[in-house]
Amino acid sequence: MDVHERRIGRVQDALVEADGSALVAGPGPTLRYLTGVEEEPSERLFLLLVSESTERFVVPEMYRAQLAGETPVADLRTWADGDDPTDLLRGFGADLEPGRVLIDDRLWELFSRDVRIHLPATEFGLASEVVADLRIRKDETELAALREAARITDRALDEIRGLGAEVIGMTERELAAEIESRLAAAGGDGLSFEPIVGSGPNGAHPHHRHGDREIGPGDPVVLDFGTRFEGYPGDQTRTVVFDGEPPEGFEEVHDVVREAQRAGVDAVEPGVPAGAVDRAARDVIEDAGFGEAFTHRTGHGVGLEVHEPPYVVAGNDRELEPGMVFSVEPGIYLEGRFGVRIEDLVVVTEEGCERLNTTPRDWRIG
Ligand code: ZN
Ligand code: ZN
Repeated sequence: MDVHERRIGRVQDALVEADGSALVAGPGPTLRYLTGVEEEPSERLFLLLVSESTERFVVPEMYRAQLAGETPVADLRTWADGDDPTDLLRGFGADLEPGRVLIDDRLWELFSRDVRIHLPATEFGLASEVVADLRIRKDETELAALREAARITDRALDEIRGLGAEVIGMTERELAAEIESRLAAAGGDGLSFEPIVGSGPNGAHPHHRHGDREIGPGDPVVLDFGTRFEGYPGDQTRTVVFDGEPPEGFEEVHDVVREAQRAGVDAVEPGVPAGAVDRAARDVIEDAGFGEAFTHRTGHGVGLEVHEPPYVVAGNDRELEPGMVFSVEPGIYLEGRFGVRIEDLVVVTEEGCERLNTTPRDWRIG
């Protein structure tokens, strides 16, 4: 059985368990997970409709040939520009017992409204109620893609480190462009997200993208980037000094973050609550007196979305299970001075975990 047929079958089982009558997905990660179809959301109604016993695409006519070859969903209903696509939605609803209809968390309100008007439902809920639990554990196909994305990302990082003093005088934007082209040359298929190049004081803003600041000697630079491979993203961070002496206090802060990251990774094993990984990393930073400068959670799950469950955050009691993949990325941010973050992706295994990113974590080049 095809991997997507199997996933749809599991969603149908989960629907029954959740007292759901139907699940509706639009272009995005859930639709891709269930059918393999990669499509950007747009103004044309494009839906996957799944009930306990059927699955159907309602899509624009121009997609007919493409989808017929691409997906295990055999029931394709199409509408032409100029038609009212909600007729097809009502057609699906006509065979449905009224029940709970679960709508894709990411479906545009434009279409979500149509679903609420045209499908018979006793109640509406979110598709993540049944899909999140399937997506949270990665199968071998997904793990292979994530490993390859990490390998390509690491290779580009090694090359960027290798530039050393050549980086001095480049702007953050120029270095981001360099990162992007090296990721592509190494076999990446599109950025996971816009690269973060946070030099000097810009590094103190965790989600600073990249700007016109010139990287100078002694500047710590936060490098957070990744590429996708077969839809699955890499995501790693290193903080390096390309040339010259780092500012006062930087070495100590880097040591603390590195130790916190190690403690977080060491805490990963099946049965441990996700929140305990956050605690392990945070304890190191708090004990060193920098607790208030660690302003975000320790990590996030990674799959078809760069940020997805499980979230490595205080209060998350969800127990870790083999096959879960997430980041461990503590940081310390000193406003007006610099920031330090170190991030690796890990896979939970039967015994503990496997790090997907393996480049040096030192701030020194070479
Ligand atoms: Zn990252
Ligand atoms: Zn991350």
